[in-house]
Amino acid sequence: MKIVTVVGARPQFIKAATVSRAMAEQGDCVEVMIHTGQHFDANMSDVFFQELEIPKPAYSLGVGGGSHGQNTGRMIEAIEAVLIKECPDAVLVYGDTDSTLAGALAAAKLHVPIVHVEAGLRSFNRAMPEEINRKLTDHLSDLLLTPNQQGIQNLAQEGITGSHVINVGDVMFDAALYFGARADETSKILQTLSLAPKAYWLATVHRQENTDDPLRLQRIFDGLSRSPLKVVLPLHPRTRNRLADQGIVMPANILIVEPLGYIDMVMLEKHASLIVTDSGGVQKEAYFHRVPCLTLRDETEWLELIDMGWNRLASPLSDDFFSAFEQDYLPGTADGEPYGDGQAAGRVVQSLRLVSGQG
Ligand code: UDP
Repeated sequence: MKIVTVVGARPQFIKAATVSRAMAEQGDCVEVMIHTGQHFDANMSDVFFQELEIPKPAYSLGVGGGSHGQNTGRMIEAIEAVLIKECPDAVLVYGDTDSTLAGALAAAKLHVPIVHVEAGLRSFNRAMPEEINRKLTDHLSDLLLTPNQQGIQNLAQEGITGSHVINVGDVMFDAALYFGARADETSKILQTLSLAPKAYWLATVHRQENTDDPLRLQRIFDGLSRSPLKVVLPLHPRTRNRLADQGIVMPANILIVEPLGYIDMVMLEKHASLIVTDSGGVQKEAYFHRVPCLTLRDETEWLELIDMGWNRLASPLSDDFFSAFEQDYLPGTADGEPYGDGQAAGRVVQSLRLVSGQG
């Protein structure tokens, strides 16, 4: 079977790493990877292909830097040309970026079956570009692979039910287990940054609703300044630009570092005493490594984490926002496997055979 995979952004490289490895193990599966170019910096893209051993993309489209509409349009045009040339059995898309939607739209018009990994997530906030991308992709897809049971419920509410909707578990959990073990053996990031385990917070901020709203961004950094511990912040390029535009002064307790490779990121996650983030992936990774998490958003797609008490929302414009930074967060006691058993990638590959006619 021949699968075209479309990736373009950091979280997609991490998800694709586990599935690509599982595909390669099959022997009869050819993967042709398209990198749209949505994230293109060395530390937002190349490092993941190298350290996660992802096959080099067969096609690099170089689309990035434009508006959502410009990027999506240019990606559709370029992906369509690749699909016509490659004639795959299916197109595999991940998550909720412009690359996801572009891949799905290009495939749908050519009647190529679409497989969506991380289907069914909803924030119910249509102001998020990710919500539009994931919803439209789900409604175009022929096989919807959810990371959890919540995804199945969300899709059912939109009338999407049937044997083509499968909870395979979360490929990010597979990645956390596989590369988490490697981080312990190889990462030197704690020594490099002179950090003692559990003596720092780890923060990430990149979501458009936070970076592009000057008040939210200022309040987030005011909040982080209240941490009793050093805060390590691998700074996303968009956030770096907006901080400069807004003239926001960096609090003294925040240690800014360049975006990190996944292995070093996992190491920092494992040993943080608290993770503060607006990232979807990092919220879950906090749980995978059993670290409490404060989420800088008004809502989250990952409701299980809130229910289990490992994650708490800190909405940047809320009255009690700053007090969230002044409390002790101890590891929770609730335990469960809402994201599967770490074998999701294998199930994705088995499911691919359903749509490629080789089941
Ligand atoms: N990540 C990383 N280096 C960093 C920051 C994040 O490797 O400096 C990883 C993180 O561990 C997670 C993924 O990138 O696996 C999350 O990506 P991001 O926060 O950009 O996107 P989201 O998950 O919100 O879609």
